[in-house]
Amino acid sequence: MSRHRAPRASSSRSAERKPAAAASPKKRPVNRESVEAEIETFRQLVITSRDSPKVEAEAEKCIGRLNEMFEQQPAFFTEEDVRFVNVLRGFLGERLEAHRPPVAHRRRRKREGDKFDYCWRCKTPIDERFTETCETCSTKKFRWMICPVCKACGCQRGQKVLV
Ligand SMILES: [Zn+2]
Ligand SMILES: [Zn+2]
Repeated sequence: MSRHRAPRASSSRSAERKPAAAASPKKRPVNRESVEAEIETFRQLVITSRDSPKVEAEAEKCIGRLNEMFEQQPAFFTEEDVRFVNVLRGFLGERLEAHRPPVAHRRRRKREGDKFDYCWRCKTPIDERFTETCETCSTKKFRWMICPVCKACGCQRGQKVLV
């Protein structure tokens, strides 16, 4: 077992913390338990979002915390966590959208280089609302569009951010 290669539960927390990382007082310790607890909080918020759009702000904060934890300690997230959290984020987008007044949208075709004609995460078909592109994901040849419903782009696919 290589200790430096796989920062796992017990050793990594204290051993790998650098003084710079401790600078922000807001940061809480990241471990398997805190990751699981945060994912569960997110799951509950997504369940509630079916009946009420009021969870939106709280859900955004939760997403912020999850992304921060992932940035600090990606090793505490399993592949299944990553997949699950992204599925939940897709549901959240769809459910919040369903609370808004229905509006007809104009479908748009795939552009050159687009793999799908819908959002990979929440499955919203590409329409006139897909106007924003992500600087982080975009190259000269291809500009990643940000989903207006669930904010997905290539960042999550490439795991530059968790969700
Ligand atoms: Zn989406
Ligand atoms: Zn991106």
